[in-house]
Amino acid sequence: MFAHRCLVTLIAAAGLTAAVAAQAAGAHEHGVARLDVAVDAARVSILLESPLDNLLGFEHAPRTDAEREKVAAALVRLRASQALFRIDSAAGCVPARVDLQSAPLGLGRATAGAQVKDGHGELEATFDFNCSQGARAGFLEIGLFEAFPALQRIELQVATPKGQLKATLRRPASRVVLVR
Ligand SMILES: [Zn+2]
Repeated sequence: MFAHRCLVTLIAAAGLTAAVAAQAAGAHEHGVARLDVAVDAARVSILLESPLDNLLGFEHAPRTDAEREKVAAALVRLRASQALFRIDSAAGCVPARVDLQSAPLGLGRATAGAQVKDGHGELEATFDFNCSQGARAGFLEIGLFEAFPALQRIELQVATPKGQLKATLRRPASRVVLVR
């Protein structure tokens, strides 16, 4: 009886460890992207992690003209940060910087081979906005579902001067309330 209970406990612990490890590695699940939003008085900084499949429909370096066109179009949409992230105008934010990293697309760190796993590829993007009163940002409108039709769900983490929250945004929802 004791041995049986031990086994159950062990299995439960192993399951939990696997879940934590997958989360720490930024689990790669098609249709899902992760977004970390940090709001402070002078800046809103947004980190996006997404499987390339959500953005392109494939996860390798482009091989054909059609694939190259898809990459170019996706990069244009990603660099238009003011359309992807519409921050409450009360915060007075303007786009400052977009940084894109993706090993399969040859963007950013050339040695980011760790981002290519078992034929899967990802993109990591940082969007910075300079704000006159960032702490007054009451909401954020996210345009990722409009820009990328294959994206179904966004797992959000938000840190503001007033606290932290986690949320899941499902198509077609777009608004995240930042101040509660
Ligand atoms: Zn994949």
